[in-house]
This record gives sequence, C-alpha cells and structure tokens, in this order.
Amino acid sequence: MAAIKRLPVHTKVTIGLVLGAIAGLVSQSAFTSNPDSLKWINDNVMQNVGGAFLAMMFMVVVPLLFSALALGIAEIGEVAKVGRIGVQTLALTVLFSSIAVGIGLAGVNLIRPGDAIPVEKRAELVASINASEAAKKGGAEKPAEVDPAVWGIVPKNPILEATRALSGGILPFMFFALVFGLALAGIEAEKALPVRAFLEGLFAVSQRMVEMAMSLAPFGVFALVFRTFSVLGFHALGTLGAYAITVVLCLAVHMFVTYPLALKFIAKLNPLQFFRQVRSVILTAFATSSSNATLPVALRVAEEEVGLPRDSSTFVLTVGATANQNGTALFEGVTILFLAQFMGISLSVPDQVTVMFLSIVAGIGTAGVPGGSWPMITGVIRRFGIPAESIGVVLGIDRILDMCRTTLNVVGDMTIAACVAKFDDKPSAVSTAD
Ligand code: ASP
Repeated sequence: MAAIKRLPVHTKVTIGLVLGAIAGLVSQSAFTSNPDSLKWINDNVMQNVGGAFLAMMFMVVVPLLFSALALGIAEIGEVAKVGRIGVQTLALTVLFSSIAVGIGLAGVNLIRPGDAIPVEKRAELVASINASEAAKKGGAEKPAEVDPAVWGIVPKNPILEATRALSGGILPFMFFALVFGLALAGIEAEKALPVRAFLEGLFAVSQRMVEMAMSLAPFGVFALVFRTFSVLGFHALGTLGAYAITVVLCLAVHMFVTYPLALKFIAKLNPLQFFRQVRSVILTAFATSSSNATLPVALRVAEEEVGLPRDSSTFVLTVGATANQNGTALFEGVTILFLAQFMGISLSVPDQVTVMFLSIVAGIGTAGVPGGSWPMITGVIRRFGIPAESIGVVLGIDRILDMCRTTLNVVGDMTIAACVAKFDDKPSAVSTAD
C-alpha cells in the first residue's frame, strides 16, 4: 500500500486508465443481458466519481487562467520594451506557434482520429454524457445571457464572463486577462509591483490546487475511462490510439521540418549538429515533462555546447520557458478538435480559426509544468459545446504526450535563441552551417 502511495501521480493515473479500460471492457460483456444495471453504475457511480475530479480541476480554471495569462502578457509587454531582441523573440514565438498549430489542425483534419468509432456507438456515448449533464442542470438549459460580449470577444462585464467561463465565456475572459496584462506592463514599475506579486501568488496557489486535484486523478480517470469503454468497447482503444498517433506525428513534423528549416535558413546552423548538441536538453525535457525544470540545462547547453552568446540566450530561454510553447499550442489545437470529432460536434472554419487563435494564446499562458495544458483545454472546450467529461478519456494517456510536447517546447526555445543570436550578428562560436 505504502509502495503504491509513493508512486508518481502520472504512474497512478496510468494504472487508473488501464484498470478503468479493463473493467469497462469486462463490464460491457458481463452486462449484455442487463444493460440497465450497467447504465445505473455509469450514471450514479462513475459519473459522480469522475465528476468530482473534473469539478476540482474546473474550479481552478478562472484564477489560474487569469493569473497565468495576465503575467505572461505583462512579461511579453516588457519583453517588447527590452527592444530589438524582445521584438524578435516575440515575432518568432508567434510565427513558430502559428505554424505548429497549423500543422496540428491540418493533421487532425486529415487523419480524423475522432471518427474511428461507429456512429451508433458514438450516439450512445453522447446520449449518456448529455443525459448526465442535463440532470446536473436540473433538466433545463440555462437561459441565454442578456448582456453578451461584443463580437463574442470584448467583454462588457468581465465578472459576468468569469462566471460563465466554463460555459462559453472563456474567450471574452481571456481577452480581459490579455488587456489587463498589457496595461500592467504599461504602468510605472513601482505601482505594478504589488499587482504582479499578487498575481504571482495567485498563480502559485492555483498551481497547488491543480496538484491537489491531480491526487484524485487516478480515481477520476478510472471512472471516466470505465464509462467510455463500457459503452464503446474496443472501439475506444482504436480512437485513443489514432489520437495519440496524430499528436505524435504532428509534433514530429514540427520538430523535424520546421525547426531544421529555421536553423538552416535563419540561424545558419547545421540542424543535425544542433540536435546533437542539445541532446541533454531533449532528454531532460522528455524525462521531466517540464519546460521550467529544463531551463537550467537549456541555459548551460546554449552557452557551452551550441556556443550562443550568454546575454541574448539567457533572455530568450527564460522568456521562452513560459511564453514559447509550440508543442503545447499544437497539442491543445489537436486535442480540442479531436474531442469535437469524438463527440460528433462539427466545427466550422471560423470555429477552427478561433481554436487556432486560442491555442496560440493558450501556448503563451500555459505553465511550463507537467500537465500544464489541461486547465486551458478544460476551459476552452466548453466554448464549443464539448462536454467536459470527454477529457477524462484522453487525460489517461497524457503523460507520454506531455513528454513529447515538452521536448518540442524547449527545442523551440533553443531554436529561437539560435535565430536571435544570428540576427544579433553573434553567430555560434562552435558550429556553422554546412
Ligand atoms: N508540460 C509542458 C511544459 O512544461 C506544458 C504542457 O503542455 O502541459 O512545457
């Protein structure tokens, strides 16, 4: 028992996923003659256990999102003030994040991993999830709000948007956090200091709350996966596999096409040699799933192995650890679209453009810690009418995908540092392009 307690959370979540899948599959065949009992278990036991875990995550979305985004944007606002290097870093961050999300959205539209389940099975799952959502709301939909945000983006009343952030108001609320962060970067340092300190504290507390919620994750994931597998059977395995392959393929395209091209043509470095030089950064990011934890290694490698000038690379890498997260932005875009496909919700082109924009901003606002993406994804999917319960299915296999996307996040930072060093006309002392 003590040995189980000491296991890292992600291992416990994986155990929850595997046990939930096995128990769900066994129940599907065990209850074939008595489907009502299985439905009762799903609606009354699994729904509540999974729901308690998700609610713990949801309640932290508003404070976490606000503090992370406002701080992230304020930092970037200051970055721009730092002058040329700041503007170059910012421009490359937006460029690489947009390409990353573009690759992700193209991949998920081409492969369509969410379609790998038969129509009638999907209808069954959606009906069961919708029934429990309706039951939670007392069977009635909430009436439309009387004071909507202008163009659905500019909030008249940010408090109102905060209260409905999980039922569609996330974009106006993010807009408010964005403007707040910009304004914070624009006021006198002395006055900004206490507000920043408060936001940093709020951010730290919110992260701690996520950790607390994650201690329930093994049970929550068990329950949510049980429900999905008991309805979908082996089809759920195929869908999950297709989703994981889509994420990894898209990440690989960005890693092995976008970065090498940028290294070769912008930074004028030999990509192969560069990847060899940064291998300890890659390994650390992969092992820790945290950009923040990888930062000290990245700083050392940038200077000692790649030979980048210390002043600019320290600046770019430090900012990049939180603001430049290409892997995360790509992952968030793919996951939102996948969940929409999985739940049979079709997203129009304007909707997908919104997903793209939200994923780029979310990449900036996501904390560089393991599982940092999830509060963002949780908030954003509700905007498209995707039931929150659906994330339980993918959460179970998140750790391995987190290891991969974090690797991209830090290699992206190193690539930008190399490009900025070239712009700065201080080429690498160690390596040159072929
Ligand atoms: N683990 C990622 C990082 O630290 C963030 C995330 O996408 O969850 O960069």
